[in-house]
This record gives sequence, structure tokens and C-alpha cells, in this order.
Amino acid sequence: MEFEVVIGLEVHAHLLTASKIFCGCATAFGAPPNTQVCEVCLGMPGSLPVLNRKAVEFALKMALATSCRINPTSVFARKNYFYPDLPKGYQISQYELPLAEHGLLNIRVNGATRRLGITRIHLEEDAGKLIHSETRPVSFVDFNRTGVPLIEIVSEPDMRTPEEAVEYLKGLRNILLYLEICDGNMEEGSFRCDANISLRPVGAPEFGVKVELKNMNSFRFVKAALEYEIKRQRAQLSAGREIVQETRLWDTAANQTVSMRGKEEAHDYRYFPDPDLVPVRVSDEWIEELRKTLPELPEARLARFQSEYGLPEYDAEVLTSDKALADYFEAAVRDYLEASEKERRKSQQIKPSGIPSEEALGPPAIKNVAKRISNWIMVELLRELKKEEGGIASLKVKPRQLTMLFTLVDRGAISSTVSKGVFVEMVATGKDPEAIVKAKGLVQIADTGALEAAAQEIIKANPKEAADFRAGKTKVLGFFVGQLMKRTKGQANPKLANEIFQKLLGDG
Ligand SMILES: [Zn+2]
Repeated sequence: MEFEVVIGLEVHAHLLTASKIFCGCATAFGAPPNTQVCEVCLGMPGSLPVLNRKAVEFALKMALATSCRINPTSVFARKNYFYPDLPKGYQISQYELPLAEHGLLNIRVNGATRRLGITRIHLEEDAGKLIHSETRPVSFVDFNRTGVPLIEIVSEPDMRTPEEAVEYLKGLRNILLYLEICDGNMEEGSFRCDANISLRPVGAPEFGVKVELKNMNSFRFVKAALEYEIKRQRAQLSAGREIVQETRLWDTAANQTVSMRGKEEAHDYRYFPDPDLVPVRVSDEWIEELRKTLPELPEARLARFQSEYGLPEYDAEVLTSDKALADYFEAAVRDYLEASEKERRKSQQIKPSGIPSEEALGPPAIKNVAKRISNWIMVELLRELKKEEGGIASLKVKPRQLTMLFTLVDRGAISSTVSKGVFVEMVATGKDPEAIVKAKGLVQIADTGALEAAAQEIIKANPKEAADFRAGKTKVLGFFVGQLMKRTKGQANPKLANEIFQKLLGDG
């Protein structure tokens, strides 16, 4: 039997507010345990929560960025359960009346656009953190995270493959980063994801029994866990067994999902409106005010990269799918345009009169520069980034240094072949390209005498090819230049090498 996979995702994102959602405690990650706590977030009797306006603002921005309908009134509710990391015995969340509903997110998978529904976005507080001792049968609790503001973003069960699920998560995370309301750090738990997954026979009207997956703190694990679960459920169903509704954990060491507990139903939590908090009222004026503060979002930036820089859709998509990468690209383009204008003035000895406007340089110049930098980022830079942890943020090569490297090539100081090796060294050390070129003696050989001597030896060693050239097969020139490049480890000036061989072979 053929099965259809149905996936829905719940994302929890820490909001980058300075203080917690219902008290004034700091939210900074990594402080010594239990140093960022007070009566309110510790759930002391008699203490009262006060809602952090910034947290509501951030959540509203995300709702606007994902085209949600914002509810004029939303209500905080208590979700009751016991766990040692939850001092109040309940978590303040939103249940029947969330902040926003009915949003959407467009993703691209294999060149096609898919529109995925967002069911709701609501505000809640995070719980504390248990730290289990590895040497003794003891656990410790750190309440610093208790009360840190979260938004929970619940998707419709619209995804059909693990790839779509990962693209959805990347898309959401990217928007959060563009809005600068979450740091998106999955390892520190500020961007977390749970997945609901079920299988049903193709064409069946009803969903199958779903399993909830937890503990997937990287996109790679999300994909692996979903793939594993599809196989497991398919095997169960094919053998005529029923799927148990439960919560399963992704075990990174064993590469499989393992049963954690039977799934609770909403009524198990005895939700009721929190009597300590008034309903949240969001006026149209507030929404419009916030709408004006929204930055350029990924989809708009994608369109602009194509129109302003003339980039192909593929380039624009790769660059804008990561805010930091897009920022890097734009900084490099700006910097290179300024630097090449300075070079031009120097060579023409024109008095500097400030930085040229982009119009003055003309659109073709921008587009050429943009494509050159985009190519470099997509090939050289992303390849090196894959080897490192932490992505573009931890890259040691600043856009300014990339410009320096390009300038060295433009001046003819190094060949473009050599520049690739220099870049690898820059990524490893963070040094300026000039320092690396100097230290390694990589300056391009533009000494005619030295190159001629080498070229003559090459011609002598390859009499057949030399005869071919003289007989009119001018294509073998490339072979000779290639030999000279090999001998000089790519440092020969290619233009000069061409001229020398043409002259020497022509003479003989
Ligand atoms: Zn507190």
C-alpha cells in the first residue's frame, strides 16, 4: 500500500527581550545558575506577573511578517502540570484565544513554491532547565530560563516530506533573524522544534494516528528523525499494526526515535484563563505603527537582489536565505565599488571628491561586480564555510578583506588561480591577503626574462606540439601556457605567458 506523509511543526522561539515576559529579570544566556530569578519567575506566593510590552511587540511583528490575522483580544491561560523545572506548577501560555492566527509561509523546494499554512502564533513563558549529573544520581535545576518569553508558532499539517519541513523551519528562522527578534540559536535552545508526523493511505480522507517528535536541535536531526519515523510507521502499518499516539525522542547516538511517553491531550492540562493577567488588547493603530517598523523581509530582498544587482534567481535565493550572508554580500559589493573607484582615481590622478554614488558608476558596473562577488560567495566562500562550525558569523574574512583580494587580482599582482588559495588561507587565519601573498611569495611573475627562459625549455621538451603550432594548429598554445602555469605554480601572468609563446613559436 502507498502512504502519504503528513507533517505539522511546532516551533518555539526565544524572543530577544532584555527582560523576562512577566518580571524584570534578565534573559541573557549562560549566566551562573539561578542568578537571574525573582519572586515572580520563581512562583512565590503573593507575587504577581506584569506583561512585558516588548515581548508582545516582537510576537506581533512575527505575526505581521507571516501574514497572520491578529486577534484584537487575546488571553493568557494556565497550562497545569508538574515538573521540577516549573516552580509555579503551571506554565503561562495562550490557549483558546491566541495572539494571532491564519498565517502563511512560502517555501521553495526543488524549484517550486509551496504555500504552507500557519495555524497560530501565541506567547508563553519558558520553563527552567534540569541538569543531570553524569557522575552521581542527582539532578540540579537552573531557573534562569524560567519566564523567558517564547512565541510558539504552530503550522498546519501541510508538509508532505522531510525536505519541506526543513525548508519551512529555515524560512521561519530566517524571518525571525531578519526581524531581529530571536537569535535563532538551535544549540542553545532559542529556536526549538517539535514535529507531528503521521501516515495515511494515499487518498484517505482522515489523518492517521500521529506521533510527536522532540529533541531535534539541528536541521539535520529534524530531517533524520522524520525520515526514520516515516520508515518505522510505514513498516508498522504495512504489517497491519496500529500506530500508538505518543511522544518520541530523537536519540542522536542511536540514530533512531525512542518512545518517551504516551501523548497527553489538551484536557490533561486543565487550561483556564490566568486570573492574574488582564486580556491583551491590540489596537489597529498599534498594528499599523508596528507594520511601519518592519524591515525588508527575505522575499522582498530576494526580488531586490534580482532587480538591483541583476542576479539570477538561484544566486538571489541562496544569498537571501541567510540574513548574515545577504548582509555580507551587500557589504562586499559596496566596499568593492568604493575601492575600485579609488583605484580608478589613483590611476587617473583625479582629486578625490567623496564616495561615488551608485548611479555615477552606472548599473552595468554594479551588476558585474555583484555577479563576481556572488560567484565568489557561492563557490569559494560557502565551500570553506561548510568546513567550519558557526556559519558566516564566525567567518574571519571580513567583506573589506575580500575586496583587498579582488583588488590584488585587478592590479595583476596575483593571478585569479592563486587568489583562491590565498582565500583559503584567509579563512583559516583571518590575515589580510597582502600579508599572505608576501609571506608565501605568491606575487605573479611578470618578469619577461624569467618567463621566456622557462617557456623556451618547455618548447624544447615538446617538439611535436611546437611543430603542430607552426603548422597552424594554434589551439596548442593553451597547452604551452598550461605547462608554464604548472611550472610556476599558477604564478605566471597568463596574458604575458600567451604573448611569450606566440612570439617564441612564431620566431622559430
Ligand atoms: Zn524574575
